[in-house]
Amino acid sequence: MSVIINDTCITCDACAQNCPVEAIVDDNDNPTGNPRYYVQPEKCVECVGIFDDPQCAAICPSIGCITWDMPFTKEFDAHFLNEEIYKLGTKNGTPRSPAYKEKKFREDILLSKRGVGEKIQVEPQEGEVA
Ligand code: SF4
Ligand code: SF4
Repeated sequence: MSVIINDTCITCDACAQNCPVEAIVDDNDNPTGNPRYYVQPEKCVECVGIFDDPQCAAICPSIGCITWDMPFTKEFDAHFLNEEIYKLGTKNGTPRSPAYKEKKFREDILLSKRGVGEKIQVEPQEGEVA
């Protein structure tokens, strides 16, 4: 990962329908138990090689709902093993954390622009049609 969905999600399903790698689950299947959609960081590829930007964020009607998080790389293994934020899938009992397998990420996004809450979408300026 990746990107992360916050509590402004209105469970509209648009992101899940448009994710090219089926990385997004609905509120019923959110492994953290939160009542919102959830991006599985161990599956998200930040749309690298498919779209110019994360498609889920581009299509989400709740601006600011989907934000950047850290790249899904070994450097950030501990971050993704934080069970308050993520519940990773497992393989033979081993969490599918970055140490298990890293994922593609947008290398053009500076680390300083990442982190839970860092915006992907740009809010429309006054007078601009969204
Ligand atoms: S950034 Fe792309 S791959 Fe990742 S969850 Fe969103 S749509 Fe799916
Ligand atoms: S598109 Fe946005 S509001 Fe709709 S389910 Fe996905 S994160 Fe939630």
